[in-house]
Amino acid sequence: MTQQFLEMPDAQGYFGEYGGQIIPPQLKAVMDDINDAYEAVRQTAGFQEELADLYAHYVGRPSPIFHAKRLSARQGGAQIYLKREDLNHTGAHKINHCLGEALLAKYMGKTKVIAETGAGQHGVALASACALVGIDCEIHMGEVDIAKEHPNVVKMKILGCKLVPVTRGTRTLKDAVDSAFEEYLKDPVNFIYAIGSVVGPHPFPKMVRDFQSIVGREARAQFLAQHHKLPDVVTACVGGGSNAIGMFTEFLPDAGVQLVGVEPAGKGLDTPDHAATMTLGTKGAIHGFVCYNLQDAHGEPLPVYSIASGLDYPGVGPQHCYLKDVGRVQYEAITDTECLDAFMALSRSEGIIPALESAHAVAYAMKIAQTMAPEQTILVNLSGRGDKDADFVANHLGL
Ligand SMILES: *Cc1c(COP(=O)(O)O)cnc(C)c1O
Repeated sequence: MTQQFLEMPDAQGYFGEYGGQIIPPQLKAVMDDINDAYEAVRQTAGFQEELADLYAHYVGRPSPIFHAKRLSARQGGAQIYLKREDLNHTGAHKINHCLGEALLAKYMGKTKVIAETGAGQHGVALASACALVGIDCEIHMGEVDIAKEHPNVVKMKILGCKLVPVTRGTRTLKDAVDSAFEEYLKDPVNFIYAIGSVVGPHPFPKMVRDFQSIVGREARAQFLAQHHKLPDVVTACVGGGSNAIGMFTEFLPDAGVQLVGVEPAGKGLDTPDHAATMTLGTKGAIHGFVCYNLQDAHGEPLPVYSIASGLDYPGVGPQHCYLKDVGRVQYEAITDTECLDAFMALSRSEGIIPALESAHAVAYAMKIAQTMAPEQTILVNLSGRGDKDADFVANHLGL
């Protein structure tokens, strides 16, 4: 079982029946090149040392594990611990894989890194990594999102990336993906498309997972050193699934550790306003790979929703789909209301304002802590900080 997890995906990029490359042959050749370059470069001491040095001295790794004592006492039950990815430079886990992607682009001699961004979180992390590495960066963003996400838009401009406003269709994330992809296809040999999660065609789900797995490697060693045992439950929020797979990978062989991915139930699983892909999705293809999907009868992605804009994706990483099917990871859904309660509870009992995405995992931990014994432990991946969400929450709650 252990080997089976660690050797995934197979040479074609499949995790069981999920993943792969559902793309035209021209693009498949380009993706295979990226895979070959990645497999070659990752073996070199130069690449590993450069990445490790940036993790330590640029991102500020290792991030600490914090015992949320007052939050645990408030709930009554298991002890809740937080892996503080919110303390990373740029405020979330995304910098872990953006640095890996930017470095790979440099090693491959690419001239430009291209990506789309929705709320701007991926855009800011990628623009930071590209500024650092010294490579051109072009981010496509819908006009509607540009109007909504002013602070991130300004940051991307300051960081020197080329921001391309997308005026077609609904002028949101979906159109930004199409627009960025068209630019990429103009010269896929010299450009590289930097995907923002463990999604897209092979090798991206594998590469992004590998770059994020530093989170679980650190967390497992830190927890063992502090407690001389492993946590009973490890949990993380799931949008595309990068922070969750980064946390889970090192724990996969530990059969005694329960792993739980937390999806957005939005306004309720009985409404159309959610993004609970694992809970309610069906198998299908999206954006070049096979996974659980929220799609209509014609196979078109449904308009998904979450209060946390980083979680509203109609697909999900292929490895998560596999881990659900084999029963190694369990997936639960948390509503907007539960998320907001957790956002305020963590802020007021620990002085830590979480990202709304991360608050989904905190909410799940708060819920199950009450059903567990005080000597039991829950480790939450606190994927990011809530600066970006503070205005919205204050307005929403009338503070
Ligand atoms: C983008 C984002 C997420 C969702 O992405 P995953 O790939 O599912 O991890 C979660 N938390 C934060 C703070 C984010 O910025």
